[in-house]
Amino acid sequence: MKIFGIFGDPIEHSLSPVMQNEALRALGIDAGFYAFRVTKVDLKDAIRGAAAMGFGGLNLTIPLKEKALELEFLRADELALAIGAVNTISFDNSGLVGEKDETKGEEEVEDIGDCDQESLVRGHNTDGWGALLALQDAGVRIDESRVLLIGAGGAARAIAYTLEKEGAEISIANRSLKRAHELATSVGGMGFCLCDLEKLVGQADIIINATSVGMRAGDARLFDGRLLKRRQAVFDIVYNRDTKLLQDARAAGSVAIDGVMMLVYQGAKALEIWTGAKAPVDLMERAVREALAEREAKLGLKSDKASR
Ligand code: NAP
Repeated sequence: MKIFGIFGDPIEHSLSPVMQNEALRALGIDAGFYAFRVTKVDLKDAIRGAAAMGFGGLNLTIPLKEKALELEFLRADELALAIGAVNTISFDNSGLVGEKDETKGEEEVEDIGDCDQESLVRGHNTDGWGALLALQDAGVRIDESRVLLIGAGGAARAIAYTLEKEGAEISIANRSLKRAHELATSVGGMGFCLCDLEKLVGQADIIINATSVGMRAGDARLFDGRLLKRRQAVFDIVYNRDTKLLQDARAAGSVAIDGVMMLVYQGAKALEIWTGAKAPVDLMERAVREALAEREAKLGLKSDKASR
């Protein structure tokens, strides 16, 4: 049986095991996908351990995506390097990865520090791909669209690079203006502070929240929802709840897209990198939505008990 996993800290709430195990079962692959709590300090040992034990592949989440690029034995692909973050790791010795890099000669393969050529560790980033497919799924046109991207963290960077390649014109608003400017410069866009949102919202075709605002029930709105218009698409990559932003978007008649399909498609792409198989995205989506509904029902029960 092959083992796959997701490393992160905290990791208890990850939906990847439920989603990936459903996919592996449906594909008839004898494998299990597990969540492992791994801190930044332990990342190097944990990845080497996974390689040594013949893991089929890994996902990385907060706070490890950027840290992975510091590992001397990890070969990040062009996109992961441009984004500055790795969310998927494949091992050439997994026996499931069909895609070896035939362009690399033997000498080049040997020159990877203290990791032997049988266990090449490759880094990828599938977050931007996930966001692109989630938008396309909802019928949103990207080419020549004006995108207002709120946030400049790891997920925002992946989205910015991907949508820029698809021909979008990108404005980035972020709490830290410096980070907004840095990301905007690298994708040929403009950087703004959150205080500019009131002015920027009306000018955009697509508005994307790539901050963590909205993850908690009590989070304040980033901007007044009454600024939204019917012709706009609003994509909130937060996936653990129906956010105020999505509620505002529906009230305005805009196209409202939650973060679930981004999660599903980034996972589907990772699964395809590891196994070469086409991922069953419908089943993966159902597994995620059911797990979220179950979680919400449990929380409801808890607050019912507390208010009794
Ligand atoms: P990150 O690298 O830590 O970036 C966090 C971003 O949120 C930064 O832009 C940060 O601004 C901003 N932010 C945090 N607290 C804020 C606040 N109170 N007010 C305004 N801005 C605030 O995290 P990430 O990995 O990019 O993830 C961001 C969100 O995307 C999380 O909710 C995560 O769950 C979600 N996500 C979803 C998917 C999916 O598949 N749907 C994939 C990846 C991530 P500063 O730069 O000023 O700190």
